[in-house]
Amino acid sequence: MYGKGILKGLRVTWNRFWNTYIEDISWLLRGKKRYFTEEGIKHRSSSATKGIFTVQYPEERLIAPEEMRFVPFLVYDEKPDGKREVRCTSCGICAKVCPPQCIWIVRSNDPNTGRPIPEPTEFYIDVDICMNCGFCAEYCPFDAIIMDHDFELASEGRSVYDMEKLLKPASYYKSIRPVNYELNDAERKAKEAAKAAKAAAAATPAATS
Ligand code: SF4
Ligand code: SF4
Repeated sequence: MYGKGILKGLRVTWNRFWNTYIEDISWLLRGKKRYFTEEGIKHRSSSATKGIFTVQYPEERLIAPEEMRFVPFLVYDEKPDGKREVRCTSCGICAKVCPPQCIWIVRSNDPNTGRPIPEPTEFYIDVDICMNCGFCAEYCPFDAIIMDHDFELASEGRSVYDMEKLLKPASYYKSIRPVNYELNDAERKAKEAAKAAKAAAAATPAATS
């Protein structure tokens, strides 16, 4: 019984070994590169691949699927005058839903009136504790916190990210999650249009009276 299992395993290894050469030659004959190209990595990551399917990290990297989650980042919109508009309103929902409680937010207050301003003064995430669940991004009502694809975060010390480290432009969000970005963008625009229509409707009787 054991001998049969070993033989089966050897057959798999043998097939993979020879298929690697056969595939390499077939790609060469077609004038294509199977290694160090996006096409080659995509093919080796697919179920259609034969022979070797590993990648030579770090020279080659697997193509991250859109829904991949690592640590979160904060989104800001780039205004035409070059200013950054941080989407976060410091509502605190993400900090409340975070299971390991690794988000800290310091809210802003108007220095004159003392009233709260809808933007954070400070925002911290302890990425050593973050368990990459994505709840913060899921519950944020403003699409202000998004799960990143960047996983190469090794450091010698403790990794507590502040606002400067967490902030990334909306164009980056679009580049890593194009489908999600378009959906969120359409939702945001629809909400803004509905709000403008409501405001216009509310202003109409006052204007005519
Ligand atoms: S990231 Fe979103 S959920 Fe968290 S405080 Fe900012 S607006 Fe609220
Ligand atoms: S991904 Fe999960 S654990 Fe990490 S900060 Fe967001 S809610 Fe907290």
